[in-house]
Amino acid sequence: MKISEILKNGKVTVSMEVFPPKTDSSFDTVEKAVDEIAKLKPAFMSCTYGAGGGTSAYTTRITKRINEAGVVGMAHLTCISSTEETIIHQIEDLKAAGIENILALRGDIPKDMDFDGKSGFLHASDLIRRIKKEYEDVCIGGACYPEKHPEAATKEEDILHLKEKVDAGCEFFTTQMFFDNSIYYNFLYRMRENGIYVPVIAGIMPVTTRQQMKRSIELSGCIIPPRFKAMVDMFGDNSAGMKQAGIIYASEQIVELLSNNIKHIHVYTMNKPDIAEGILSNLKGMI
Ligand code: FAD
Repeated sequence: MKISEILKNGKVTVSMEVFPPKTDSSFDTVEKAVDEIAKLKPAFMSCTYGAGGGTSAYTTRITKRINEAGVVGMAHLTCISSTEETIIHQIEDLKAAGIENILALRGDIPKDMDFDGKSGFLHASDLIRRIKKEYEDVCIGGACYPEKHPEAATKEEDILHLKEKVDAGCEFFTTQMFFDNSIYYNFLYRMRENGIYVPVIAGIMPVTTRQQMKRSIELSGCIIPPRFKAMVDMFGDNSAGMKQAGIIYASEQIVELLSNNIKHIHVYTMNKPDIAEGILSNLKGMI
């Protein structure tokens, strides 16, 4: 089933994310996590893609497993380090595995890469255009950044590039994590003001360790509200307390979004069924 159809039916959706194993030997652990999360019946599950190769070959296998577990699967696909031939090969593999949904991304630019577009895909919109040209039946989503993408000069410029993705065939967006919902509301308003009307799924990251908070800020550059910082300062050295506090913080963010009629939430569950379950149990009766 296409995710665009799932998002159209007017109901609240909570989707979840996993990442593929780094080696063949850890497949079992990831597949087990996929099965456990799938039992919670998220609206769909996505599997990330290793931009620099490495885990790329595993994304298809894990997404196929998601479908087999009875949940609609979406495979992430990045283009910056790939030739057109590799991309087409990857899409053929996904289609052969029965995968209908792709989150089309540029990926981070590798440090040693001469970013001149020789790969054929400078931006995610180029990838989306290419996929849609040949595979019109594939449902495509894209990434967006409520606090703007770190490389973009201004928020306005960044939004114009998001519009290019929609014009190329992007049917919905999933946001980068944010820890203050007002940032999302403000972003959504600017998206609509710029003529972008596709669903914008709110990406929520449950942060359950101090180390994860540091990594999240490094990766996303997102603003850390004082309330969030105080929580990590208080519980960061107490693993059970920090885990519970992180689940509660993410749950509260979701409750507030739902209260403001935001219907689509994506939880960065990171192969952790217990965290996914903790959040869903806090939302019982609400979704
Ligand atoms: P783009 O949409 O191409 O945008 C990148 C930058 O280029 C932005 O600053 C944009 O404003 C600018 N830009 C876009 N079009 C143009 C244009 N025509 N002219 C000039 N500038 C332009 N990474 C992975 O490696 N694997 C994953 O699985 C993965 N999953 C992700 C999931 C989500 C929900 C998010 C938010 C990010 C994910 N990432 C993943 C990270 C992502 O690959 C990086 O953030 C990357 O730097 C940008 O990817 P993008 O698709 O947003 O790029």
